[in-house]
Amino acid sequence: MFDSLTTRLGDVFDRLRKRGALSEADVTAALREVRVALLEADVALPVVKDFVNAVKDKAIGQDVVRSVSPGQMVIKIVHDHLVEVLGSDAVELSFASVPPVPVLMVGLQGSGKTTTSAKIALRLKNRDKKKVLLASLDVHRPAAQEQLAILGRQAGIDTLPIVAGEKPIAIAERAMKMGRLEGYDVVMLDTAGRLHIDEALMMEVAAVRDLVKPHETLLVADAMTGQDAVTVGKAFNERIGLTGIVLTRVDGDARGGAALSMRAVTGKPIKLLGMGEKLDALETFHPDRIAGRILGMGDVVSLVEKAAETIDQEEAAKLAAKMEKGNFDLDDLAAQLKQLRKMGGMSGMLGMLPGIGKIKKQLSEANIDDRIIKRQEAIISSMTKAERKNPKILNGSRRRRIAAGSGTSVQDVNKLLKQHQDMATMMKKVQKLGKKGIMRQGLA
Ligand code: GDP
Repeated sequence: MFDSLTTRLGDVFDRLRKRGALSEADVTAALREVRVALLEADVALPVVKDFVNAVKDKAIGQDVVRSVSPGQMVIKIVHDHLVEVLGSDAVELSFASVPPVPVLMVGLQGSGKTTTSAKIALRLKNRDKKKVLLASLDVHRPAAQEQLAILGRQAGIDTLPIVAGEKPIAIAERAMKMGRLEGYDVVMLDTAGRLHIDEALMMEVAAVRDLVKPHETLLVADAMTGQDAVTVGKAFNERIGLTGIVLTRVDGDARGGAALSMRAVTGKPIKLLGMGEKLDALETFHPDRIAGRILGMGDVVSLVEKAAETIDQEEAAKLAAKMEKGNFDLDDLAAQLKQLRKMGGMSGMLGMLPGIGKIKKQLSEANIDDRIIKRQEAIISSMTKAERKNPKILNGSRRRRIAAGSGTSVQDVNKLLKQHQDMATMMKKVQKLGKKGIMRQGLA
């Protein structure tokens, strides 16, 4: 779907990559082309503006990592921001609720809603071993309920028996009842489509939502319709409240704008991609893989990542040398905190150790360490250069100023200074031991 966008961006970056040094004007010129490429791909204008501005800010403030070219650095920045806009992490459907878990499918007519309902049901049956009941609430389009029944038979998924003349609310009620009585894990409700946003049908969906209180409300949107799909997403989200989006016809030659704008405009994650008419043509949406596909520059991205890792190692070696000399100041502590945060904080580091997944999960759920590290970094950056070099001069009034400047308390500042003091003392001890030769004997 992203072919033409990929080609356009490829041209821009190829030119950028060939240059040795980049001026701000080079970056601006390249970003102007990125902007045109995104607009041509039918990405919503506010999204394009934010994108270009964010990349520019990052690119200009960023130190270029040695051993990569500035052009490569810019590509990496664009890539990372693309991943961010697309939603960072893949978000799976959630079924963590009391069964039968209600799932509401909404969207325009012809978006692929019925097909997608059957695709999701099949995936839940095969991959997650769930018992799924499908029900069509579409009493407006002739044969819509039959269509779902046929798809259900193809996929080996049960569908709610059709009762002629029944209203959507009554169908939903009956589906949930059957789900409860017959032990279904998930009940998927395929609502009536509409040709455009239509208040009467919206009210119908809202009434069903109020009745079943869906655990997932998924908008099915046709990627080929570009910005229209985004407008529809916004309207449904405001009126009904969505938990996720499924983009269909991603196998076609859509220009990609919908995928890029959807998350930014609705704030809701794209969870799945429809990749064809067959019932197994459904994929989880992985922002990093999509960004990689759009840019088509995976080699450059991993090159920059590797180079950045090397620099981190060099910095660590420098720090170790300083520690050995016994002068570990607050700038060094700040560098260490930054490093820690880059590695994903304590939880990230712990996660690298086997068997510690549970603690890691608790830590990251509480999001404790990242917050603390950020606060400590803020405290240090509110100090003057002289204070960072020589913490001894930090009297009461300086500490109060730093606390106010970093939005923390004097206790927080004191705690940080104590931590630094402890580390410096420990390092001196280690150093003394080293002098006595213990370290060299291999005991440390
Ligand atoms: P509904 O009106 O929203 O329920 O849409 P349907 O499920 O009836 O789909 C309309 C048409 O789109 C059907 O011919 C489907 O086979 C086709 N379709 C659905 N999803 C995809 C997809 O991801 N890729 C392609 N190429 N076709 C799709």
